Amino acid sequence: DIDHFKRVNDTLGHEAGDEVLLQFANRIGGAVRSVAGDGVMVARLGGDEFVILVQGTDLRELATQLSTRLVTDLGRPLAVQDRQVFLGASIGVTLFPDDASGATALLKNGDIAMYQAKVAGKNCYRFYSRAMNHAVERRAQLEEELRGAWDRGEMSLVYQPIFSADSGLLAGAEALLRWNHPVLGTVAPSVFIDVAEQSGLIESIGPNVLREACREAAGWPTPAGMPPLFISVNVSPRQLRRGDLVDIVGDCLGQSGLRASQLHLELTETAVIDDELQASSLLARLHGTGVKVWLDDFGTGFSGLSYLKRVPVDGVKIDRSFVVDLPRDPDDLALTTAIISMAHSLGITVVAEGIEKREQYELLRERECDLMQGYWMSYPLTAGEFAALLAQPPRNIAG
Ligand code: C2E
Ligand code: MG
Ligand code: MG
Repeated sequence: DIDHFKRVNDTLGHEAGDEVLLQFANRIGGAVRSVAGDGVMVARLGGDEFVILVQGTDLRELATQLSTRLVTDLGRPLAVQDRQVFLGASIGVTLFPDDASGATALLKNGDIAMYQAKVAGKNCYRFYSRAMNHAVERRAQLEEELRGAWDRGEMSLVYQPIFSADSGLLAGAEALLRWNHPVLGTVAPSVFIDVAEQSGLIESIGPNVLREACREAAGWPTPAGMPPLFISVNVSPRQLRRGDLVDIVGDCLGQSGLRASQLHLELTETAVIDDELQASSLLARLHGTGVKVWLDDFGTGFSGLSYLKRVPVDGVKIDRSFVVDLPRDPDDLALTTAIISMAHSLGITVVAEGIEKREQYELLRERECDLMQGYWMSYPLTAGEFAALLAQPPRNIAG
């Protein structure tokens, strides 16, 4: 299954999509011929899914070689309509007769293994194993338990402080969702947000998060001589697509009494790119309410920096993956520097997240990054801990 194929169709059009399919088919053919020789069947099953049928004596070894080769070949950028497109493929492998004896069961196994490759981060391969059936079942069970988790009081928000680089003082916080499962204990958002997103449950959880975050932030005192603290809330792609986000934001502000300018919504770059036209009109309507819009995980998407010129956002959060190897990695340094200068030339605020070391903080401050978030300054805090922090004399991270 091609990774991110939908994005090509949505952003570059169906002709580009067709071109990608052709180029993929050619690369698959080339890889198969060079690794497994002739007598291999390659088929397009539909959409962006291909099936390869290979025979051999040491099948496991052969499948490993072929999958490794395919991941490498298909992960290289494609040239489509004068643009470089980074895709990749997720591959599931199943063996006859070890895993199953019928065609239907083999295809289903392949699909389960492919899905595990997607979950593992895409652009990789996985061999089917019986344990994967359990993984699929576990996921279904998690979804069942997630339904109603908010109403049962199992979910809560924590608040991670965000500091101004300039003054070194607290400027606001990001609300992060936590799930305290009665049996499993704390479940990481990296596990359950995805389930909530895929199942659509995020559409009911998201508004609860927004309401709760606004209510909490409305009670925060404004630090002396400073602007009011902001609260930034993550909004999922599905919430954007529903069409009632502007109304929900309006309700949350009305009920809590929070000033619109104190609320920041974090949208992911990919959600906005996936449907740029619709997103632009949504962004305009959100701005009409007075809230600020930030792009989260910036730099990981597909877009390139010039994209910032076209979408009206107030801030970008440089993804943690570009911060983690600072100050050593020269590429990351070049990229973060470019993001900051591009954003500033457009009047856009820059936040760096995932700062874990003093050197990272200092380097980014030198490069004039505006806001700083990360474990080096503070872990996410419970509502009570955050309130306690506000009651103390202000801490200056620069000092
Ligand atoms: P995100 O919005 O990019 O949030 C930042 C994540 O980085 C948080 O993880 C935070 O705890 C973590 N982080 C902050 N500083 C550091 C650091 O210095 N080092 C490291 N290693 N990590 C750091 P968390 O809370 O696990 O959230 C993960 C993701 O889950 C978030 O990424 C966001 O995409 C999603 N998420 C969390 N809460 C919500 C929510 O209420 N709604 C939606 N739609 N998504 C949410
Ligand atoms: Mg975020
Ligand atoms: Mg982020």
